[in-house]
Amino acid sequence: MLTDTRQAPKPGGRSGAERWQRELAGAVREPAELIRRLGLPETLREPAERAARLFPLRVPEPYIARMRPGDPEDPLLRQVLPLEAETEAVAGYGADPLAEQAQRTGSGLLQKYHGRCLVLAAGGCPMHCRYCFRRTFPAADEGGWRAALAQLEQEGAPAEVILSGGDPLLLSDAAVAECLQRLAALDGVRRVRIHTRMPVAIPARVTTALVRHLDQAPLQAVAVVHANHPNEIGAEAADALGRLHGACTAVLNQAVLLRGVNDDDAATLAALSERLFEAGVLPYYLHLLDPVSGAAHFDVDAATGLRLWTELAHSLPGYLLPRLVREAPGAAAKEVLTPSGP
Ligand code: SF4
Repeated sequence: MLTDTRQAPKPGGRSGAERWQRELAGAVREPAELIRRLGLPETLREPAERAARLFPLRVPEPYIARMRPGDPEDPLLRQVLPLEAETEAVAGYGADPLAEQAQRTGSGLLQKYHGRCLVLAAGGCPMHCRYCFRRTFPAADEGGWRAALAQLEQEGAPAEVILSGGDPLLLSDAAVAECLQRLAALDGVRRVRIHTRMPVAIPARVTTALVRHLDQAPLQAVAVVHANHPNEIGAEAADALGRLHGACTAVLNQAVLLRGVNDDDAATLAALSERLFEAGVLPYYLHLLDPVSGAAHFDVDAATGLRLWTELAHSLPGYLLPRLVREAPGAAAKEVLTPSGP
């Protein structure tokens, strides 16, 4: 599982880098504390504690600060608060919905698509999203990314290497720099893609040093961030995304369509696209939920997704319109859904 037992960098003192480390280490992990902090009904505590035994709660302070106190339906809270529904088995939902375990070619390497490979660069995450399709995934080994890079150095690498996890920006700035240098030295690698929720969860993670390493990387760097609701992009996150935009060839967002979070009407998704673009981020994918155990209560069916997407298409310019997609285990590519069919 994407546990919270992975090493959080040790808290430090004054610099920007140390601030993100403190925020990471100080993330709330107890449902009782989150409920108390937000003034939520005490009745939520016991079921949250039961569900958290299956997948622990983890939410950092900057993300909590964007929630509405006293509102159990807050769209950010819903993404992180464990609920009773997670403990119920639902037909069609499983531990490894995309059959990724079978695609692991080494301890930290996944070969999913042609021309790309995925390095599980870190085992943990800045926050635990209850709908995460890797919520039961065995964590990548600490330092496993070095083993994955060694395997690529030995066997050859595709044109694009994706750093994923967990969240690769849990690595220190020095480790990110080492990773970029080693990837750039591999024959044939043209791009590195970094999948991260950090700029939204802990905006201070986008440090001056990280920006410099990305900016100076001798290969193209693409960041793929993850936000599902416009309320996730406050001033600090927007600033972090803007700095990332300045250092990367492109910054893209992938969102998940989630019941009770962003499925109320197309206006919510349109506001997300607008806010992302103001911060220099292009909306890239809107995913239908992967059927992972414990997340069935988030499901939005494909027909509803298509209706929302069509309304979105009528209200946004094409470059702000994410592609509505779903993944199937073993498929060679994502399926793009359109009103006339895939
Ligand atoms: S969605 Fe991303 S940040 Fe959230 S738990 Fe999954 S891997 Fe971690």
